[in-house]
Amino acid sequence: MGLRPNLLTRRVAGVATTTLALLLSTAAVGVAPAAAHVGHADEACAEPADTHSDAKIKVGGVAKHEPNELTATQVREREADLAAVLAARAKRTDLKQGPAATASITIPVVVHVIQRDSTRAGGNIPDSMVSSQISVLNQSFSGATGGTATAFAFQLQKINRVTNPSWYPIVQGSSAERSMKTSLREGGKGTLNIYLGELSDDLLGWATFPTRRLSSMDGVVVLSESLPGGTATNYNQGDTGTHEVGHWLNLYHTFQGGCASSGDSVSDTPAEASPAFECPTGRDTCSTAGLDPITNFMDYTYDSCMYQFTPGQASRMLTAWNAYRAA
Ligand SMILES: [Zn+2]
Repeated sequence: MGLRPNLLTRRVAGVATTTLALLLSTAAVGVAPAAAHVGHADEACAEPADTHSDAKIKVGGVAKHEPNELTATQVREREADLAAVLAARAKRTDLKQGPAATASITIPVVVHVIQRDSTRAGGNIPDSMVSSQISVLNQSFSGATGGTATAFAFQLQKINRVTNPSWYPIVQGSSAERSMKTSLREGGKGTLNIYLGELSDDLLGWATFPTRRLSSMDGVVVLSESLPGGTATNYNQGDTGTHEVGHWLNLYHTFQGGCASSGDSVSDTPAEASPAFECPTGRDTCSTAGLDPITNFMDYTYDSCMYQFTPGQASRMLTAWNAYRAA
């Protein structure tokens, strides 16, 4: 449907080699050093890392969610790394009798509004749209929209407006993206940096997965007009932001791995052979139990169609937070 297979394939090849999920960003740097740079030949590897990103794509090829999906190998690498971090952490906790994992987390958010000029078409969206996006994140992650309540809440720390035509549109995987993030990123591993602007390739957004070592690429990039009140028809209720933050907290797509048993590494999201677009009825692409999870935030359906995370996803995000992003 508008997946633009060629583009996706190209991106996957470049990114995937890199390290799994790190794509999302550079945050993945320290996780799998060996895997990290493979395949990044076209990128100025200022960082030793790996950045994996996942993006969100619109239906019909007009806009896309994400530049890449992870390969099975990348997923295996990421899962092995997570297991290693958890094992090391359990050991430390044993020794120190440390506190239990935090179950309620408020994430500070820094929003960078990238603009070409002072016009709305040039990226100058009002503060009210940013505030609404933060509200949507809080509703989505608290279960207020109908899904599971996760441990996470979001607090806007600042809106940083930057007028720089060389960073607009934001081009996924470009040296300009790296330069932008290196210049602007604030806070530690637990600070969510969101970059808003027009995006390359009709993308709706992309994000970096968490990694052991903080990368300057860490964060979430979102099409500014996908914020609540934006002009991105069918994708303007803020769920692209929710989807990308899901990646930032270590969630894969619900269609990751297709119908294979490991799938998205979450047990309560039915397997799905491919992304769902729009809002299909009765879609069931795998012979395993359950209809496709088209209402899950980690699919590609319209904002009006997606409204939930599952308990398994909530648990996976909390585990990842404590493994990678907690102070
Ligand atoms: Zn995605």
